[in-house]
Amino acid sequence: IGCGSCANVCGEDAITLKRKLGNVINSQKLHVDEDICVYCGVCEENCTMDAIKLEDNKLIFSEDKCIKCEVCSKKCPVGALKLERLSNER
Ligand code: SF4
Ligand code: SF4
Repeated sequence: IGCGSCANVCGEDAITLKRKLGNVINSQKLHVDEDICVYCGVCEENCTMDAIKLEDNKLIFSEDKCIKCEVCSKKCPVGALKLERLSNER
């Protein structure tokens, strides 16, 4: 079903998952408020898709892995992560 669990647990990094997301999913994007984030790493620990990494006090998202489940934003202790709808209006 393309959940990526195999790629997440493979100790040899033998699997690379490539996803193409549809328009509905791509209409939303995670936003981190860096003025609020305390870089605790809770979001990274709770992301089952391995779509968010904390490196050198910076959050790095992998858009191709993220399934917009909002687990990270719900677990964030300070409310720094939000899933925002991308506007199509011009
Ligand atoms: S859980 Fe929230 S405060 Fe912690 S690193 Fe992630 S965004 Fe920042
Ligand atoms: S929305 Fe879900 S898949 Fe995307 S980074 Fe957050 S926890 Fe991971």
